[in-house]
Amino acid sequence: MSFSQIGVVGLGIMGAGIVEVFARAGHQVVGVAESEAAVDAGRSNLAKSLSRAVAKGKLTQDQADEITSRVSFGEDFDLLANCDLVIEAAPEILSLKTEIFSKLDAAVKPTGILATNTSSLSVTDIANATSRPAQVIGMHFFNPAPVQKFVEVISTAHSDAQVVSSIVELGKSLGKHLAQITDQPGFIVNKLLLRYLNHAVQILDSGQATKEQMDAAMRELSNYPMGPCELLDLIGIDTCVEILKTIHADTQLEIDRPADGMVNLVSAGNKGRKSGSGFYDYAEKLDVPTDANVDIKNQVHNDLLIAYLGDCIAMEATGYATKADIDFGMKLGCGLPEGPFEVIERIGLDAVRSAQAELAQRTGIAAYQPLPL
Ligand code: NAD
Repeated sequence: MSFSQIGVVGLGIMGAGIVEVFARAGHQVVGVAESEAAVDAGRSNLAKSLSRAVAKGKLTQDQADEITSRVSFGEDFDLLANCDLVIEAAPEILSLKTEIFSKLDAAVKPTGILATNTSSLSVTDIANATSRPAQVIGMHFFNPAPVQKFVEVISTAHSDAQVVSSIVELGKSLGKHLAQITDQPGFIVNKLLLRYLNHAVQILDSGQATKEQMDAAMRELSNYPMGPCELLDLIGIDTCVEILKTIHADTQLEIDRPADGMVNLVSAGNKGRKSGSGFYDYAEKLDVPTDANVDIKNQVHNDLLIAYLGDCIAMEATGYATKADIDFGMKLGCGLPEGPFEVIERIGLDAVRSAQAELAQRTGIAAYQPLPL
């Protein structure tokens, strides 16, 4: 299969980044969104990202111009007719995605592959909205798409094996590390990441720590590039709430119910950086969050880390993903300095298991218990 023309539907945080990834790799790209304003926003997202790369000396102005010349934009799905692959990056709402896939099915040539960048929704449900479920797949990029080197390729029971392998090859040609997995809510990275982010907001809601204490704890004690509240603002709190709803519907665990602190911010229109404010206000340039309270930082760092490591151990034990894919996912998809299994190796499995038991006992939450031996 050859991929000369790529379509992208939805030109927000992810869609514009995915346009850039493919245009940088030499593909012709067509970007489509639902209104003139959304198309203009997508065009300007791409232009800003390329200007930043030129300012940092990562691209020359000529290269940026060449990349821009490979991209066309519009509102009409018929512009996607000749695409070999179309990737949908519209909001994380199943009814919207199934509507878009049914329109794509009608507009894109019969041999075209349709992919969704969904973070958590059922790729199977999305594929079922088309007459070509064998050619529908999940292709989950990470934010920012041009920077993060990990992509999850999600197949369903309908997927054609050749479609899956050609998407994996295409992903590799973009310089990404690919993990090939089946269709489960949140896949590898978001299942782990969103539970960690939700845990942080549950701690915040309980009044045990401030957002600055939590963000400082994870930055300073685990060298994460940003803390959980900063990351929620970067991803988009609305998107995170939607992902958690899907995960919660699957697990029915209280720890996966979207925390009130997130839901309330979204209800007030504070979705994070993209709306100008979320946990933090982005009207002015922010200082890196910090806090002098060492005891609180140690406590929240311990609790967030141990619960997360326990989830990684449990995921690997189910056979859904390998230790290597989980480590790659958390490092290359989220920019964490170490994979969870590297951390477990460093601090020792027995120490992690005792800390899990202590956390479960102290909080009364059985889901934090270590797996039976
Ligand atoms: P976003 O809100 O920034 O962008 C959504 C885009 O979809 C906008 O351009 C909007 O105009 C467009 N859109 C809305 N309705 C549409 C329609 N009917 N037809 C075509 N376009 C439409 O959202 P985002 O953060 O880019 O997320 C998009 C998808 O990518 C979601 O499924 C999300 O879960 C997933 N994702 C997000 C992240 C992240 O960090 N934000 C990371 C990986 C995957």
